[in-house]
Amino acid sequence: MTFSAIPGLIEIKKKLIDAVQASHVAHAQLFSGKPGSLNLTLALAYATYLHCQNKGLTDACGTCAACSKSLKFIHPDTNFVFPLGNVKGDKDEDRFKAEILKTWRSFLIEQPFGDLGDWIGAYGGEDKQALISREESREIVKMLTLKPFESTYKIMIIWQPEFMHPSAANGILKILEEPPKDTFFILVTNAIERLLPTILSRTQIVQIPLLDDVEIENHLATKGVASNRQQEIVALAEGDLNLAIKLIDSEQDHFQEKFSEWMRTCFKRDYGKMVEQMEEFNERDKLGQRNFLQYSLTMMRETLIHFSGASKISRVKGSEVKFVQDFGKVMNVGKVEKVNQLISDASYHLERNGSAKMIFLDLSLQISKILNP
Ligand SMILES: [Zn+2]
Repeated sequence: MTFSAIPGLIEIKKKLIDAVQASHVAHAQLFSGKPGSLNLTLALAYATYLHCQNKGLTDACGTCAACSKSLKFIHPDTNFVFPLGNVKGDKDEDRFKAEILKTWRSFLIEQPFGDLGDWIGAYGGEDKQALISREESREIVKMLTLKPFESTYKIMIIWQPEFMHPSAANGILKILEEPPKDTFFILVTNAIERLLPTILSRTQIVQIPLLDDVEIENHLATKGVASNRQQEIVALAEGDLNLAIKLIDSEQDHFQEKFSEWMRTCFKRDYGKMVEQMEEFNERDKLGQRNFLQYSLTMMRETLIHFSGASKISRVKGSEVKFVQDFGKVMNVGKVEKVNQLISDASYHLERNGSAKMIFLDLSLQISKILNP
């Protein structure tokens, strides 16, 4: 991964590069971003840049011996730690480790903007809880006592330290505070609020913002996505490039039509229709279900924006504008907030593999109570 392969984030990239140029790289940094931010990809590009033998002013060269290894994620001085479920089918631990590392590399190559769910899917972890174990922290310490093999630096990328077992986190505190010379830690988190204060106090925090709509749109344009579809995807993705890319291949969803129909059904308390819509919802795949709820949240937010009169920050276009205006007539701020909360909760339960049918029907019933008490 090189910086130029990552859309947007110009300021952050410059800051990271300047620190290397000025030899002021903090020994432990925490790349913190919301889910969907490109903090892992940035960490990978940063590692490539640090190791590059022929650094440019804006990026790694991409062709030197170090870069060619970094781009395949096989540079011996870049180490990775990531959450893993209990998938050990293999008694031979070394063989298992080699296998999982191979899977990890192909994950990074195939889904460079992938999230934890994608990673769990890639190694076949299914529902098992993924975490970073205590043994892993011993490995980290052991690995970092070795001198760099080829580069001037050793880099330890810890992805999602929020999934560290507390004893694993405690196990690395000392080395995190005083790492061996020329060793850099890059911790990459999507949930900074879940990290131990002892970890936070030992790292320099670098905030990685989500991409803005134009950056996502530009990226979609390079993939040949038609401009009206770009608009739809941008509204659904809300700065999450990984999600935007997944949506390229998904069907055009007619969410607006479905959503207004659903709200009408709830308003009329048409229970027969609710059951039909539940079946329809259930037939969507998991991503489709998630996106439909995401779209519903977008419409709630748009209705609030409509109430506040801040049309500048509105994302809706075309027929959605009329829907929001009409919907605004039967809603008020309190109601929108309640419905918004219900949809968020439903989304949360769905992510945790609750029954789609139950969740959606229950949601419909609760919404109908709010819309039409
Ligand atoms: Zn290079």
